[in-house]
Amino acid sequence: MIRQAVLEYNHADDALDRLDELIGGRRVHVLCGQSGYEAVKRILPAIADYPTTRFRGECTDAEAARIDLAHTDVLIAIGGGKLVDTAKLAAVERDIPLIVIPTLASNCAAFTPLSVVYREDGSYDRYDVFRVIIERVIVDARVIVSSPYDFFRAGVIDTVAKHYEARYLSGERSRDAGVNSGLVLAEQCGRLVELDLSEAAFRAYGEDIRFAVDHVLAIGGAVGGFGDAGTRVAVAHAVHNALSQFVTTHAFLHGDKVGFGLLVQESLRRSPDVDSLHSWLEQVGAPTTLEALGLSADDIPRLVASVIGETTLQQLPEPLNSDYLKIIFENLQKTIYR
Ligand SMILES: [Zn+2]
Repeated sequence: MIRQAVLEYNHADDALDRLDELIGGRRVHVLCGQSGYEAVKRILPAIADYPTTRFRGECTDAEAARIDLAHTDVLIAIGGGKLVDTAKLAAVERDIPLIVIPTLASNCAAFTPLSVVYREDGSYDRYDVFRVIIERVIVDARVIVSSPYDFFRAGVIDTVAKHYEARYLSGERSRDAGVNSGLVLAEQCGRLVELDLSEAAFRAYGEDIRFAVDHVLAIGGAVGGFGDAGTRVAVAHAVHNALSQFVTTHAFLHGDKVGFGLLVQESLRRSPDVDSLHSWLEQVGAPTTLEALGLSADDIPRLVASVIGETTLQQLPEPLNSDYLKIIFENLQKTIYR
């Protein structure tokens, strides 16, 4: 199935200037977070005049239900991935359209018709796929350029992962038009490694950065919209989930753990890209050893069991070899000689 969630996506230096026109007199409710909202308010002070709900930080059913949309024609979500997931959930349940103003270039939540939902205790509950109407994603360069660089850097890694994970599941090309389109877009995401995405470049916000931001926010999300099950997550995300069980990894961003997972995944398939991926991750400052993630050799058996468990559920093209997986983790414990 081919599925897209967004009617219009606009990334420009003045994208927010057209918000009023888009609202067109409708009754608005705003869901906002903390830091990014301030950046939007500086550009558009009148945004503060609308009824507003402050996001509490986690996408749960209760959080979505808390947004009072009784007299609302359109919901405006201003924030990061979890906030956008919550807004989508609320908009679908109450059957109203959504406008998204991302404040971080770190994820493709604004471009996917699904929400990752957590329980009240913070543990993962489920992900819902639904028909959501996102009228426009407004990416204002003035907001993104002032956002924290680390989120962008980690978002790029997660977007580059689309290429490797899609290829792991479906190969280089497919006779299914949707899957093939997903693979082509994913390949384009993989090319982000060729660009200068340093913090200095990010702050200068030139062509390469704009290209990368569009891939993190939009094209990365479209990969799954076209490829569906053929281009979803694979071993790298299973490794991410396994790592997340260890408290020491909580200090790392999602993309950092996915990047390490990519090294594991590509080593498993004996890919010629392992070395270049490794150098790229080091260059962007992402962890490439278990030690850097705060894990020791003693943690490897639990990691292996967790990855095997998760990838069994994923129904990969071939089951993983747990002995080989263990050797790969051992090799990635510390990197001394290369
Ligand atoms: Zn991810």
